[in-house]
Amino acid sequence: MSLVLASAAGYSLLLRFGRNVRVLFLSDIHGNLEALEACLAAAPRHDVVVNLGDSVGYGANPNEVIDRVRQLGNIFVRGNHDRACAGLTDVRGFNYIAAAAAIWTNRQLSPSNLEWLKSLPLGPIFLPELPDLQLVHGSPRDEDEYLLLPDDAAASAAHARVPITFFGHTHMQGCFRITDKQQITYHPRYSSNRDQAHWDFPIENGGVHLINPGSVGQPRDGDWRAAFALYDSERKTVTYYRVPYDVETAQKKIMDANLPERLASRLQFGR
Ligand code: ZN
Repeated sequence: MSLVLASAAGYSLLLRFGRNVRVLFLSDIHGNLEALEACLAAAPRHDVVVNLGDSVGYGANPNEVIDRVRQLGNIFVRGNHDRACAGLTDVRGFNYIAAAAAIWTNRQLSPSNLEWLKSLPLGPIFLPELPDLQLVHGSPRDEDEYLLLPDDAAASAAHARVPITFFGHTHMQGCFRITDKQQITYHPRYSSNRDQAHWDFPIENGGVHLINPGSVGQPRDGDWRAAFALYDSERKTVTYYRVPYDVETAQKKIMDANLPERLASRLQFGR
């Protein structure tokens, strides 16, 4: 069966698959090529790739990461670092380290990748073939909003026009389920942080789910491994993944580029 997936911004993609769609979600890669390649090598079979923003900023391989994600498909949401690295907004809202990385990244980008970054669409993005979900970087109401606490998620869920929102920005893998009666936070449970692991999360009927696949290139939830997720539209299940990657090489590249040392050191702690 042939389906057309098209976003509100006019991005379109012709896909061939059955009635079940398996979506690979990547977010917050932040120029970390080693983490991205590890995730792609570990990713299970999927029909389409969705990128929730911040492909660049912080890491030392912005051009290589953009080249790679452009090969994977064309469903993207702009992130705040994409916007700043593209020069669309100034970096005054950023802390010193983020600002230094954004200015460095802007100077590294090839003309083609800079134009591509500038053209990324602001979320929410809707996919006609998956009408019960939307894609955002920060929250349904604001691309810069951090959904860290259940109260944040509940306030933002009121602006969600569909039952399932995929978001990024916080670099924390997990899910909020908001109903009339409860606000529940779920974080994947892994037995250790050494090896590759996955955790299945079945989406329940009722309420609003806000789902974060985690950060590929700069996790901040205390787990150093690269994060991503797979959504199965028929089983209504999100499978979260964590994948070890070559942190030392990513760190060395950051130091060799004279980017702030903290951007390298934090990778090994996932903080
Ligand atoms: Zn980010």
